[in-house]
Order: sequence, then C-alpha cells, then structure tokens
Amino acid sequence: MTLRAAGTESGVSRSRDVEAGVVRPRQAVLVEPGRLELRDFTPAHPGPGEVLLQVKCALSCGTDLKAWRRGHPMWPMPAAFGHEFSGVVAEVGPGVDNFRIGDEMMAAPTAPCGHCFYCERGQENLCPQAMEKMVLGGYADFILVGAHVVARNAFHKPSALGFEEAALLEPMACVVHAQEMARPEKFETALVIGAGAFGILHVMALKAQGVREAVVAGRGAQRLQWAGELGADRVIDVDAGGAEAAVASLNGGYGPDLVIECTGQVAGWRDAFARVRRGGRVVFFGGCPVNTALSVETRRMHYDNLTLLAPFHFRPRDVRKAFELLCSGRLGAGRIINARRSLSDLAEVFRMLERSAVLKCAVIP
Ligand SMILES: [Zn+2]
Ligand SMILES: [Zn+2]
Repeated sequence: MTLRAAGTESGVSRSRDVEAGVVRPRQAVLVEPGRLELRDFTPAHPGPGEVLLQVKCALSCGTDLKAWRRGHPMWPMPAAFGHEFSGVVAEVGPGVDNFRIGDEMMAAPTAPCGHCFYCERGQENLCPQAMEKMVLGGYADFILVGAHVVARNAFHKPSALGFEEAALLEPMACVVHAQEMARPEKFETALVIGAGAFGILHVMALKAQGVREAVVAGRGAQRLQWAGELGADRVIDVDAGGAEAAVASLNGGYGPDLVIECTGQVAGWRDAFARVRRGGRVVFFGGCPVNTALSVETRRMHYDNLTLLAPFHFRPRDVRKAFELLCSGRLGAGRIINARRSLSDLAEVFRMLERSAVLKCAVIP
C-alpha cells in the first residue's frame, strides 16, 4: 500500500516515510476477547491541532490484558488499542505549533477539557473528557494523537531518554498522582501490596523520594525476585508462612506507615486496611472488579486514626512531574521493561502477560 501524498491544499505536511509508502502501515485490532488481528490500515491525516505519530514503542499494560481477556466497557470491539506509546512526529495538522515533523514525542493518552466542574476545581483526573477521548491504537505503526493531548499532555522526548522508557509516561503519571496524595516521608516504611509492574513503579518512585524502607508483599518467586532487583528493600511472599508476622514486625513492630495496594483485588484492599499502622495511610491504587465492596471496621478506622486514599488517573501536573522524573534518570524506570517483541508477535505478548512471565513488554513496530 502506498499512501498518497497529502498535498498542500489540506494545509498539512507529511514526512517522507509516509509519503513514499516506505512502511506498510499496520494496526493491531482486538476483534473479540483473545483474538487479535494485525490489519493494514491507512493512517488518517491529522485534523486541526492533531499529530500523526510514527510509533517507536508501545508498552503492554494490565488494562490491555484485561481487555484481551474479557473486553473493556469503554473499548467496543473491534478495537484498536495500546495507550502507552512514544514515537516520531510523521505529520502535523493545521495549527500545531509546538511539534514539527521529525520531533520525538512522548504523550499521555488522555487530557482533560480544562473548563468543566472538575477541571475548575483542580481535579482534572475526574474530567469526563479524559476517559471519553482516550487516545488508543499504540499497537500500530502510526497513531493519531488528538488535539487535546497535543495541547496539554504531550512532550518533546529528550534524546538521552530511550523510546521505551519514554513510553512509561502514562503509568508513571498514575504513580505520581497517587504519591502526591500519599505524601511519603523520608523516615517512613512503605509497604506495597502486589509485585506487578505498578507495584514496582511505586517502589522506584518511593526510593527516588528517599523513603527509608520500601517493602513489597506479593506472590510468585519470579516477580518477587524482580521486585528485589528493581529496588525493594525487602520482599515478603504472601503465600509463605509468617507473611503476616513479617509485615507486623516492620517499622520496629509498629507496622508500615504507608500501604499502597496494587493488586486491584478486594483481598488486597482488606489486607491494606488491616496491615497499616495506627495513624497510617492506605492508598487503594488498584481498581477492583465491578460490584465488589469493602467493609471497614469503624472502630479501627476511628480509634486508629487511619487515612484512606483512593487516587484515580492523573492530572496534567502529574504528567509533567512524571515527565521530569523520567528525564532526570533518577528512577531507572526503563529497567521494568523486561521483554521486547515485534508488533507481529503481539498475541505472544498477551500469552506472556497471562503467565506473569513479563513485567512490561516493549512492542516495537
Ligand atoms: Zn496503562
Ligand atoms: Zn474537564
């Protein structure tokens, strides 16, 4: 397939790669749960404010795995998906003045409207537009980045930062938002429940802030080993005997000051509530399945003076901070990406995720 040159009448210019049809653009489509197709497609010309990005890296994410397993309420199938990406600007729409063809870009897949009830109150993470207008289709050769994202949540990737690490902007923004609420202190002991990619990103961010001790409680020997290698001061296998006592003994026997729940399972939420020390904070980071509930013992809540926090998504200021953290090199967050596959092997990526054989996989077109 050769793409026709854009011409000047549309007011857009297109990179030579696209014009010459050097690549034969493909896009992964989730046709139904468990079934992927790699289809030829013709990337749309960007409209006003939009950018067409040539994808250099897309990262696998737990949300994608959920959609692959059983669908996603916001992504009616057949659906192009993949929302953690970085790349090179291939074409810019009219009115884009902050990016030019050939620029390396990293972006979050969402951006708030800036003027609704929530945005006016600084809670842009709750802006309805953020979820409704999510940029999807990172598992492809090209992705169209919407004007709202280009204007508010897209950044020039520094050349020192690799495309893989740059694609961590979205998950890192979620972590930053949660930790802005949790406000970890240097003298504290934090317990992270769950040894998946998010649990480990939290550990990295906690250690970058100088938190005294970051402990991971999780399951699976391989994952716990990765958690230790990637920065946890200590790991606790919840399936081994004595896990409860090991958590209780933290912090000189007072228990963790801060617990960050990253499993998205009610059992994890219950554990987080039960294990935090008196006067401590719990961050319910992992969203649970629909129609689940948590029952909270009021006596414990009140007399133990607990603070329960439930961060959702992120605000532009969190994306900016995540960008700065990634650029600073202090996190070494790229180490979490422990497998690489080509776009044509995307189905294998999901089988690996299913087996927990990888934390995050870089999908390279
Ligand atoms: Zn994600
Ligand atoms: Zn809004």
